[in-house]
Amino acid sequence: MKCILIMVGTELLNGATLDTNSVFMAEELNKVGIKIDLKLTVGDSLDKIINAISFAKKNTDLVILSGGLGATDDDLTKKAISGFLNKKLTVDNVELEELKKKFLDLNIEFLKKNHKEVEKPEGAISIKNDVGMAPAFYVDGIAAFPGVPKELYNMFPKFLKYYTNKFCPSLDPIYIKDIIVSGIPESILEEKIKEFFVEPEIEYEFLVKDYGIIVRMQTTDTYKNTVEKIKEKIYNSIGEYILGEDKEKVEDKIFNLLKKKKYTFSVAESCTGGMLSSIIVGIPGISEFFKEGLVTYSNDSKIDRLKIEKNLIERHGAVSKEVAEEMVKGLNTDIGISTTGIAGPNGGSEEKPVGLVYIGVKVKNKVKSFKFNFKGDREKIRRKTALHSLFELYKMLEEDE
Ligand code: AMP
Ligand code: MG
Repeated sequence: MKCILIMVGTELLNGATLDTNSVFMAEELNKVGIKIDLKLTVGDSLDKIINAISFAKKNTDLVILSGGLGATDDDLTKKAISGFLNKKLTVDNVELEELKKKFLDLNIEFLKKNHKEVEKPEGAISIKNDVGMAPAFYVDGIAAFPGVPKELYNMFPKFLKYYTNKFCPSLDPIYIKDIIVSGIPESILEEKIKEFFVEPEIEYEFLVKDYGIIVRMQTTDTYKNTVEKIKEKIYNSIGEYILGEDKEKVEDKIFNLLKKKKYTFSVAESCTGGMLSSIIVGIPGISEFFKEGLVTYSNDSKIDRLKIEKNLIERHGAVSKEVAEEMVKGLNTDIGISTTGIAGPNGGSEEKPVGLVYIGVKVKNKVKSFKFNFKGDREKIRRKTALHSLFELYKMLEEDE
């Protein structure tokens, strides 16, 4: 079973709105086993929407539209579908009364043009909108949803349930397994694991992210066990670089270890300037362990707050292995992280280029430092520093007895 997505909205073409709806729909469609053949984006123009529908109808099983279902003049999706199918737009009285009640409950005046929100082509079935006004609908192989993300999120799963039960009850859902790795270059990673992918049913790809690389295996539920076997081989080959699976986050894994070990946790940040603390305090329940996050940005602050010797900074520079280690030792804590680096765009030199970062990690009596040469702009370098420092801490915590 295949589909084509049509995203409707001029704002999606001129850069004003990022199309996140198709990402959500892709995930939901994957779960039930419907493959997306193609994704089209069209502006709010009746002819162009009809053209897109006409092309999609000829080339796939199911056409799904998002956007342009509202009450304003630029909302043309319904008109386009009814025009294409040559079916009148009708209003169901029960739905009209429900809509009027929603307006009344919210104390908004119901205008004549709001009728448009419950119009649908003759013979269409509606999908109830629990979080907004206009219901979505399905008719003759075409489904249409509002552009407002929270409304789409509410109705799309309900539609898929209806559609798959009725038209394709025995679909094999798509199965995706992500293995998140860090600290190994993409080319070496590929060399080490590509020999495991011999079955044609298992597609694999590498997705490069700020925090590492996702090894994604995609197949259908039938081949789940084969994926598990490949996963085992990957663990045996590059286990020390594996950060987690699927949507697992490194900070959550640290938190799980902290719950066992009951350690206090502090950080001293220079180049990350609070970003690391911000990630840490994003973990619900971390207050039990997180003691403090110091932004020791200047040399004076490193000297005052972390008791680093002035001449150590003078000898090695603030961005150095020695200073990173002393920074983390200066924290009164069981486990800690320090960051110091050149985030750019200025301040680099031949000896210490932009992107050079030292991270200090302390777990009880053990202190280690790590050197990185990150690529990217200031924001990216700071983000990579924060995420990699958490990964190094996690690995040291795991080794800790
Ligand atoms: P519409 O149903 O076309 O009136 O869309 C309502 C609002 O939903 C738009 O103004 C956007 O803010 C948002 N929106 C529309 N399409 C998308 C999309 N593909 N991804 C994310 N947001 C969207
Ligand atoms: Mg619109």
